[in-house]
Amino acid sequence: MSDRLPGFSTLAVHAGAQPDPTTGARATPIYQTTSFVFNDADHAASLFGLQAFGNIYTRIGNPTNAVLEERVAALEGGTAALAVASGHAAQVVVLQQLLQPGDEFIAARKLYGGSINQFTHAFKSFGWNVVWADPDDIASFERAVTPRTKAIFIESIANPAGSITDIEAISTVARKAGVPLIVDNTLASPYLIRPIDHGADIVVHSLTKFLGGHGNSLGGIIVDAGTFDWSTGGKYPMLSEPRPEYHGIRLQETFGNFAFAIACRVLGLRDLGPALSPFNAFMILTGIETLPLRMQKHCDNAKAVAEFLAGHPAVASVSYAGLPNDKYNQLARKYAPKGAGAVFTFSLKGGYDAGVSLVSKLQLFSHLANVGDTRSLVIHPASTTHSQLDDAAKTKSGAGPDVVRLSIGIEDKEDLIADLEQALGA
Ligand SMILES: *Cc1c(COP(=O)(O)O)cnc(C)c1O
Repeated sequence: MSDRLPGFSTLAVHAGAQPDPTTGARATPIYQTTSFVFNDADHAASLFGLQAFGNIYTRIGNPTNAVLEERVAALEGGTAALAVASGHAAQVVVLQQLLQPGDEFIAARKLYGGSINQFTHAFKSFGWNVVWADPDDIASFERAVTPRTKAIFIESIANPAGSITDIEAISTVARKAGVPLIVDNTLASPYLIRPIDHGADIVVHSLTKFLGGHGNSLGGIIVDAGTFDWSTGGKYPMLSEPRPEYHGIRLQETFGNFAFAIACRVLGLRDLGPALSPFNAFMILTGIETLPLRMQKHCDNAKAVAEFLAGHPAVASVSYAGLPNDKYNQLARKYAPKGAGAVFTFSLKGGYDAGVSLVSKLQLFSHLANVGDTRSLVIHPASTTHSQLDDAAKTKSGAGPDVVRLSIGIEDKEDLIADLEQALGA
């Protein structure tokens, strides 16, 4: 073996996996078991006391899931990862390690709609308070910092319009405030952007989207960059203080640069319970093997579709960071030079009615609420996901009555353009 470091595509196929030591199976087996036999009483005691790593019970860890965790940690450049049942579960588990009741976190206003709901309503019942900032105005993050701020949360490529976030500028604010930067990298995937290279301390994903890639399995993951010092000022007691759950162990002191991933597993996943099914881990691992091929095709198709729409007489405007005259094109060139992703919005001159008509006439595009599938998807937010908001609030969140969101798949781009052409023209 040469001593060169494997490239991204090699890691996407191999990281974390080996032929099965018992059977020689080359694909990672689905370890569909709830529990694992201990060697003896001492072994059992050391596993429960965190003195040894090993399998106990699938809510805490599973060998199929472990391959997925190692693979995504390698692709993102982190020290360790924890797979969970969904993207939303990843967000809960991460913030549970960081916030006590009454604490605050700052979040970018441009986020996946489900995250806006989770942060605004569900987290309020835990006593966690979200403070919104504008990702296009870095100073708004600085102004939002208070002594109770415990984290900053952003998306690398943001929903719904595919805008690009200046991760480095916001990581500077986080560093100054002494809090970790959490980046939701779902819409980019590590093929397009590796947030840790730009100052992120924690990366989260909905594996349900581009990483799994085939629209068939829910999953989420948390990646620990190993960059944050949790011991400062007693701000993060889950990591720095003796834990009664484990005979007074201090996680940062014991586990160093992967303490956050351990906290998420042994304090978050163990006690909250959103475990990923090993079957879903297998499906998502299979998807990740082709991530580089799929992601490039998603981006190339998206650019071609965005160019077609920009030249169409029924279209008022297109928001795609990959277009040279787009507001986010500079940031796209810096952060995502291989492509600006495959989720974006455009607006129709005919307003609300034209949006409803378009989604009903499209044949190849599926009208549904998801992104990051091999299949091309469309949604008219104003009549669906954002229908409860008034027109002003819709427009503010990028989902005005005239706006349509696309998630471009990996079909032939000529067929996607032909479908849009017939639906726009008819
Ligand atoms: C879908 C999505 C989530 C939530 O993930 P689930 O797997 O559906 O729980 C979070 N963030 C982004 C950007 C998403 O697209």
